[in-house]
Amino acid sequence: PATISVKELAEVLGKKGSDLVMALMKKGQMLNINATLDFDSAAAIAEDYNVILEKEEEKDIMETVFAEEEDDEKDLQERPPVVVVMGHVDHGKTSLLDAIRHSNVTKGEAGGITQHIGAYTVQIDGKPITFLDTPGHEAFTAMRMRGAQITDIAVLVVAADDGVMPQTVEAINHAKAAGVEIIVAINKMDKPSANPDRVKQELVEYELLAEDWGGQTICVPVSAATKEGIDTLLEMITLVAEMKELKANPKKKARGAIVEAQLDKGRGPVATVLVQNGTLQVGDPIVAGAAYGKIRAMTDDKGRRVKKAGPSTPVEILGLSEVPSAGDSFYVAESEKQARQVAESIIAKNRENLIKETPQKVSLDDLFSQ
Ligand code: GDP
Ligand code: MG
Repeated sequence: PATISVKELAEVLGKKGSDLVMALMKKGQMLNINATLDFDSAAAIAEDYNVILEKEEEKDIMETVFAEEEDDEKDLQERPPVVVVMGHVDHGKTSLLDAIRHSNVTKGEAGGITQHIGAYTVQIDGKPITFLDTPGHEAFTAMRMRGAQITDIAVLVVAADDGVMPQTVEAINHAKAAGVEIIVAINKMDKPSANPDRVKQELVEYELLAEDWGGQTICVPVSAATKEGIDTLLEMITLVAEMKELKANPKKKARGAIVEAQLDKGRGPVATVLVQNGTLQVGDPIVAGAAYGKIRAMTDDKGRRVKKAGPSTPVEILGLSEVPSAGDSFYVAESEKQARQVAESIIAKNRENLIKETPQKVSLDDLFSQ
């Protein structure tokens, strides 16, 4: 069975090993940095940090069955960047995402804006940018843990009146560990107490040196409240994305990630997925962990029915057998039968692991009460 050391787990969580040891101690778990944890204990700790751990085995099964087809160079096309907004609580992530979304609504879409599907695409001078709109940085970390790197750029929101705070540092660590480019949005510039220079000063310690200070880090002063600077921020994202030359092949079968999912009373399991490569179509048989099914209907981020979704496009899908987990990868199978078989082998594997690991979970109390 899978094990991980406290030290390795700390790395995964973007924390210092000694900090994790301390945090565990406060919760009554005395573990030294080299102690090994079984999967369930590690997963339970990770959950406290909004990180979902996944067993390698599941990924292995998927990657074996759905080995990625080689791309013909001529089939590769530019794809939109996928952007996540991270930062300390109350620094304005939600406000910024809302401001971006609303700044981009055309008249025809006004009704669709109430639609919330966990990710949306905005057009900046005809260039699309996809934003993940999930609470906190949960999705980002969960997906990174699952090896499915789905974001290209992280917008780090730092409130100009508050500066770098613990979750700012966590976000920086996560983005760096994942090799994701960071653009800093210095928010709340409308406040009289705003001090952008202090923010830049504090960021130096984390190797984020602002461009106007001779560094490489793009820092954009913004206000989600007055919308000041939002256009510049979006332009910068487009600029960084262009330099990255992000490509995908819309001609192949789709694969991607579950952004969020829930059970709808009338419609059954509903999942927001982000297509990472290929094109997803209504009728495609898909599998995501233990969930499988044929896509019955797809809706875009404006609430419109669509039949297809290409790379970097978020869509809501219906037709899965159960609710998949956010952060799971999804794959299009050859047939519905294959999708079901893969899901069943994952369910069987999970059950097998559960049986294998059960004896280890016997506590001292259990032993003495016998
Ligand atoms: P989150 O926790 O990072 O998602 O932060 P929120 O978006 O919920 O914002 C936290 C608080 O800061 C709310 O009361 C917002 O109204 C406020 N806020 C966010 N952006 C700005 C801004 O640009 N200027 C001002 N004055 N307040 C802001
Ligand atoms: Mg929020």
